[in-house]
Amino acid sequence: MRFNLRHHISAIIIVICVMPAGNSMLISHESEIQDSLICETIDFLSFNGSLANQSVHEQVDMGPRTPGSNGSHSLRMYLLDHLRGWDLTFQNHQYKELNITNVEAVYNSGMGNIVVLMAHYDTRQLADSVLSNNESPPDGANDGASGVAALLELGRIIPELGLNHEIRLVFTDAEDQGNLDESKNVTSIPWATGSQRWVENLSQTEIDGISSLIVLDMIGDKDLDFGKTIPANNTLWDITQRLAKLMGLVESETDCDGELGEPVFDISDVNYITDDHVPPHNVGIPVMDIIDIRYGSEEVLSGHWHTENDTIDKVSADSLEKVGKLVELGLRLGMWSGSNSTSNDSNSNSSLSSNDPISDTSIENEENTYRLMIGLFVFLFILISSLAGAWVIFAEKQGEV
Ligand SMILES: [Zn+2]
Repeated sequence: MRFNLRHHISAIIIVICVMPAGNSMLISHESEIQDSLICETIDFLSFNGSLANQSVHEQVDMGPRTPGSNGSHSLRMYLLDHLRGWDLTFQNHQYKELNITNVEAVYNSGMGNIVVLMAHYDTRQLADSVLSNNESPPDGANDGASGVAALLELGRIIPELGLNHEIRLVFTDAEDQGNLDESKNVTSIPWATGSQRWVENLSQTEIDGISSLIVLDMIGDKDLDFGKTIPANNTLWDITQRLAKLMGLVESETDCDGELGEPVFDISDVNYITDDHVPPHNVGIPVMDIIDIRYGSEEVLSGHWHTENDTIDKVSADSLEKVGKLVELGLRLGMWSGSNSTSNDSNSNSSLSSNDPISDTSIENEENTYRLMIGLFVFLFILISSLAGAWVIFAEKQGEV
């Protein structure tokens, strides 16, 4: 996953192209739900952070889960073992010399209003952050194992929730192999290749049937700090902010017990992120990427990210439980499955806040256009001057003759 300013403009164009019209059923469903019901439901949440943390340990013990590796194979067998009662498919693809396998687990197949929960299980081939001291493959305790652990724990409890719609858990391979230096004996392929292949395998009927798709990535950091990531469906983020507030996860906001919340979610902090949510977003699926991009640092995608320090000691059961319970709460209340006719409106200009990085890029783009126009003007000026000069010399020579 990476932070990418340059893609803002193309993302805006794509979003405008795929933006469906009409009001959101998710919004109307959400507005029907009273705070009192949400608070009552919080008391019943059963996501177990300790079990999820145990899974992070077990995944890290398998070694690096780079595409095509033994660790990657062990991870898939582990998923098979832990998702009994689910319908599992292994979807194989090849990209350059890498063997990529996405794993999809389905529950309540064919019941409609599909909710997709997605996490990447691959770890990066190199710890190639500039902050790394050792470029061998990172453990991926947070960047890889944490999202998978949360999905597996949700997979354990979902059969007990009595949901009346289809759920898919999608474990993607090859999310994290972008921008690698191939001179270091690794294979670089585009970010989110696994997710891209998964989307390409969907029929239009399946795409139309997906109410929401939530990506969980880097959610285990002891010091959680979530902002809003884009591209995304605004309604999904609004729902998340509302649930987080009532769970005591929004700073200075009152939770169900009348207590002030802690600073875990702040959707006024907006960042564009390239991750597994982008390919499904590009075909019109309502998406949201819950990812803590400040991992061991106040800086975005710095600290322990893509270093040898992405280790088990940085991950906590408490953090995994906060995120897992928030997703579970939305599932129990039917808030992720309200409808598939939501608007992908996060990138429309009308929804931008003043601190939105898209605004910065728009300015950057305007500056580039301005520079281009000046360049063009200078070029035309030189061209016309040269032609005029040549004409004068030619005319003088004609006169001499
Ligand atoms: Zn990564």
